Amino acid sequence: MVPRPDLGPPPNLGYTASCVDRATLCRGDEAAMTKLASDPRAGFYLIGGELVLMKKSSGVLQPLFAADEARAFAGARETIFLGLLEDAPLFAIALDPVMVEPLKARDDLQLTDLRTMAMHGLVEAVHLPPLAEAKALLGWHSRHRFCSNCGLPTRPVEAGWRRDCPSCKVQHFPRTDPVAIMLPISGDRCVLGRSPRFAATMWSCLAGFIEPGETIEDAVRREVLEEVGIKCGRVTYFTSQPWPFPMSLMIGCHTEALSDKIIVDHSELEDARWFEREELVLMLLRKHPQGLTATLPHAIAHHIIRRYIEEGADVLR
Ligand SMILES: [Zn+2]
Repeated sequence: MVPRPDLGPPPNLGYTASCVDRATLCRGDEAAMTKLASDPRAGFYLIGGELVLMKKSSGVLQPLFAADEARAFAGARETIFLGLLEDAPLFAIALDPVMVEPLKARDDLQLTDLRTMAMHGLVEAVHLPPLAEAKALLGWHSRHRFCSNCGLPTRPVEAGWRRDCPSCKVQHFPRTDPVAIMLPISGDRCVLGRSPRFAATMWSCLAGFIEPGETIEDAVRREVLEEVGIKCGRVTYFTSQPWPFPMSLMIGCHTEALSDKIIVDHSELEDARWFEREELVLMLLRKHPQGLTATLPHAIAHHIIRRYIEEGADVLR
């Protein structure tokens, strides 16, 4: 058995540990919403498509804008209420991506996608969960302007947490798409794969959308069998992560590999292979002799692998 290695203090998992009180009961109260929006402590995130606007102020990037600053930007679409952060109301505004493009030239602003912001810690960690909340919800609005029941335009209600169809009266709620992400394990080794999109040295967990009528456990077993041809048995849940690209929830699991031979589905993966636990330690510590790496700490795959390095096959108990 590999001894428990010292990987140092655990890194933060991106977009989790939200400090926001969603104050859901306020959403339907228009008078309360007007009052919250005019509160001098109110802060507004501004998002145009994939890009988040940040103010540059004395070497720090600040993603929250005051109401009057937010109003100065053209191309505003939906405004949504995210909740209260230390009693200060938090909102997010969708800006037309076409209107956002010229803002890239401004010296007082920085426009960056939310993945890069989490990867490089560009803003204080407290902003990442509400930004993920905002990015997923505004993305849903941008793709659900018309009723999927009758085809006519819908309108946002409940401070952005529902869209109603005035014609057929159907209520549409924001979606979250569940994705199973997993590490198949056999004793002191496990299977990682690489997508053709990855950096040349990077390996990660396998993952796939959970289908209608499927349990998390069945989705884990199906995805592993489809992607690498390995039959799995026991599945244990580890943790989850909001992944607002566009609006997924990553459900992290470990699973017991019951077979050995890998058959890679090349329509999904560039490659997959077995890794010894010792090799994973070198990858996480960035000391691998061939320079191989695992997913960065902002993403759940890093934490699924790390937990297996620390606990070994006990993660399946
Ligand atoms: Zn309708």
